[in-house]
Amino acid sequence: MVTNSKTYEFQTDTKPLLDLMVHSLYTTKDIFLRELISNASDALDRLRFEALTTPALLDQNQTLEIRLEVDRTARTLTISDNGIGMSRDEVMANIGTIAKSGTRELRSQTNVSEEISSLIGQFGVGFYSSFMVADKVVLETRRAGTEEAVRWESQGDNQYTLTETEKATTGTSITLYLKPPDAETGIEDYTDKWILARIVKRYSDFVSYPVVYVDEENKVLNTMKPLWKRPAAEVTTEEYAQFYRNMFHDFEDPLLSLHLKAEGIFEYQVLLFTPPKAPQDLYYQSTETDLRLYARGVLIMERCTELLPRYLRFIKGVVDSADLPLNISRQMLQQDRHITQIRKWIVTKLLNEFTDLAAKDPEKYRSFWEQFGRPVKEGMLEDRDNRETLVPLLLFESSNDAEKLTTLKDYVGRMKPDQEQIFYLTGDSRAVIENSPHLEAFKEKGYEVLYLTDPVDELLVQSLPEVDGHKLKSVGKGTIELGSEEEKEQQRKQLEEQQTKDSDLLELLQKRLDTHVKQVRLTNRLTTSPVCLVAGMEFDDSPFVEKLLQRGKGGGPKQRRIMELNPKHDIYLKMEERFRQNASDPLLNDYADLLFGYAQLAEGSEITDPVQFNHVLASLLTRGL
Ligand code: ADP
Ligand code: MG
Repeated sequence: MVTNSKTYEFQTDTKPLLDLMVHSLYTTKDIFLRELISNASDALDRLRFEALTTPALLDQNQTLEIRLEVDRTARTLTISDNGIGMSRDEVMANIGTIAKSGTRELRSQTNVSEEISSLIGQFGVGFYSSFMVADKVVLETRRAGTEEAVRWESQGDNQYTLTETEKATTGTSITLYLKPPDAETGIEDYTDKWILARIVKRYSDFVSYPVVYVDEENKVLNTMKPLWKRPAAEVTTEEYAQFYRNMFHDFEDPLLSLHLKAEGIFEYQVLLFTPPKAPQDLYYQSTETDLRLYARGVLIMERCTELLPRYLRFIKGVVDSADLPLNISRQMLQQDRHITQIRKWIVTKLLNEFTDLAAKDPEKYRSFWEQFGRPVKEGMLEDRDNRETLVPLLLFESSNDAEKLTTLKDYVGRMKPDQEQIFYLTGDSRAVIENSPHLEAFKEKGYEVLYLTDPVDELLVQSLPEVDGHKLKSVGKGTIELGSEEEKEQQRKQLEEQQTKDSDLLELLQKRLDTHVKQVRLTNRLTTSPVCLVAGMEFDDSPFVEKLLQRGKGGGPKQRRIMELNPKHDIYLKMEERFRQNASDPLLNDYADLLFGYAQLAEGSEITDPVQFNHVLASLLTRGL
């Protein structure tokens, strides 16, 4: 039967390419099956397409399908399709000229192995991945509408043979003479039904033709119908939820589902989920987005971090593009214009979805915020282009309401007529902040203050330029003036006068505390407390950040801050009196030490020298006041 057998050299030197592929290109050998199934699926697509103009090509009674057939004794796996098939010339052109342009480039860069993976993306090596798992590959094919069939055979060296043959049906079948399973190189037993089933499920589940395992059962191994390809209007909420639970192994339903479709120069479908809960590892450096990239139903990359900015890493989902090659590398993805465009589009859509939720369902938005508020804040620092969209998404605790969180816009709506700045204070917890002496004047005069309890908040406020023309201002930093212009002016004058009058006392205290504070001054920010510590400048670290820094670096540099005294407080009045009686009264040093310790305790910091503090306190108690 075999006639006209002829041996050909590959047009280019294939050996290095094949070696490369077998040894380093794909980390997982299993993907050879993905490549062959995808070729078969393409061939079936093409048959359907050509049948549009030549209906005779398609027999109405035949099911278009892909079949996997094994022979356990011969250790072969055959992947066959009843697609378009190939003529002899097509076999020579498509299979015989492996990676023509690619090998040429490869030759000129043989030493640059890091570059190789990116090079690979530039040419098709799909079919040849079968040599990763097979010593010999036989392809038999007959083009639809013709009678002649051809048999191609190669052992993955520099040559192949072509033979005329006979084939009962049109289409292509590819038989792999399998290498023995080898755990070390990741070659599995590809004659095992369950192993094949698992690989098909993983990579080819949504290929739109049945992939049949041929035995008594003829089981279809793939799901075929990707949910994301269906029109959004026809998919129910429960179907989305079920899909989410199955694919991402969650017991709960997603908080939000977003199903989008782009048609135009590029065509892609997107199905994105916001999980109900943040994962445990959300803040690990190694956390990667669970976003899966498909090319026409074939999985080409799991955890495709290139499609989302890092701060949206909690989103899970699927992107399916009709325009991506199967063997695209990460490096190429990063440079791909198409990917950049999808990413930008996805981010816009997601942020719109969050914005909508905030407007329409504040309660649900609140639970979103509890889970993912932190990453959204990271976005303020990471994604400058979208800052304006992100600002209205931010929620804060505030002195206005102990339960409800507020947006910045709502805060601005409640501002007093004379108020120019948005006030905030950072601290470990709401309780600590609420008891802070810094808040006293604000409470008394009824100015609202935002309570920032998250470590990233400090960076966040620095990234917030202005909100409706209002700057943010820490009540723990610099000087504070409240009230109308006149009131402010009057307060300023009063304070200055007393400060001049008491400058010798303040100087004495400053000298005593020089290692700890850089200035001692009077303030009107306190009403009931005698003393507090403030940062001098807006950009100085707050005690909160300072504590974080010290925790992190094992005691970072301690900044000298400013100690502010309440000139109306009894302690101050007493101290002043003593000073006027005797300016060298040793008790004044005790006052200094105790006031400094008091200020530290009041803001939730640790006392610098607790032993000394206790000592002074004890002696004072013994002596009696
Ligand atoms: P790619 O799929 O990226 O073009 P491959 O190496 O996977 O690269 O395949 C090379 C070519 O061989 C395909 O483009 C196609 O023309 C042809 N081919 C491969 N498998 C089949 C098949 N099952 N039926 C018909 N043609 C095929
Ligand atoms: Mg291919």
